[in-house]
Amino acid sequence: MQKILIISCLLLASCANRDTNSTNQQESNKVLHDKHVHIMSPQLISLWKSMGIPFSKEDFYYSDIDTIFNANKAQSVSLISMSYVYSSEEFGGNSENIEENVRYENDYLALAKLKHLKKIKAFYGIDPLQEFTFKEIERCHNELNLDGIKLHHNASQVYLTEPEHLEKIKSIFEYASYNQIPILMHFDNSHPKFGKTDVKILADSVITGLEYVNLQIAHFGTSGGFNQKTKDVIDAFIELFQSNHPISKHKITFDISAVCLDKDAEGVSKLTTKEFDELSTYCRKLGFDRIVFGTDYPLYRGDEYLNLLISKLRLTEDEIISLMKEKNAL
Ligand SMILES: [Zn+2]
Repeated sequence: MQKILIISCLLLASCANRDTNSTNQQESNKVLHDKHVHIMSPQLISLWKSMGIPFSKEDFYYSDIDTIFNANKAQSVSLISMSYVYSSEEFGGNSENIEENVRYENDYLALAKLKHLKKIKAFYGIDPLQEFTFKEIERCHNELNLDGIKLHHNASQVYLTEPEHLEKIKSIFEYASYNQIPILMHFDNSHPKFGKTDVKILADSVITGLEYVNLQIAHFGTSGGFNQKTKDVIDAFIELFQSNHPISKHKITFDISAVCLDKDAEGVSKLTTKEFDELSTYCRKLGFDRIVFGTDYPLYRGDEYLNLLISKLRLTEDEIISLMKEKNAL
């Protein structure tokens, strides 16, 4: 199974001091809204350290919200709890105290949000396959007043091709639609056949018929980097949008975090020159109205990643403006 980027990105946390003084003028006057930023509780950092995962920075780089804002340089962030790792063996979870650990991680997110109410949209981590899933969604929504649901189909091993999984995802989307809750979804479950079929099921059997959908698909639909699978997923969505499928009226966006990689992450290679060119073509094909800016911090900092996108994808001024603006339903 493909290694999961959120662990490997820790090894490669952005070199915060690398170019602070020589920051490219291109981005210096841009207002950055970073739609994909991770925060980890000290408990989660300890767990991963105990698994031998090396962290390249001090703990506060990952856990302290003020440090995150200072390092990332974004004016506002979509902040993501990784509580779903506690039910995943691969991420260091085990079968004990899952619910308690999930609550703890989502509570930690809520505390960060309280410090910067206006600058943070907080996405709580949910594993759709746990029996306490809805209890936790309702707690985060009604008691903690958090903003959105983060799903990670790789960590939770969700297969829309499994009827039982499909029902669970459908009920989450229905709840989100009814309560107008945004969903940020890591769609790729790392199965070799993940792709067009999953997009079709999501469109036809989950989203069609819903009143309200605000869905951000992480990393252009796969697990970081840009490869054939990413192209297949994006192509499948473009086909639906172009054929006026019912999903085309909804706010469905794709975040470019961890896609335009100029450094290797474990199991995910940095892009070749040809791949940067292809990515640039695909961004134009998909349209910047459907693309949102995100870094997957701590993988990159906001200013650093924006500069990378500008130079590698050769973005025009209009494209940069379009990429960085708030996206509304189309
Ligand atoms: Zn991420």
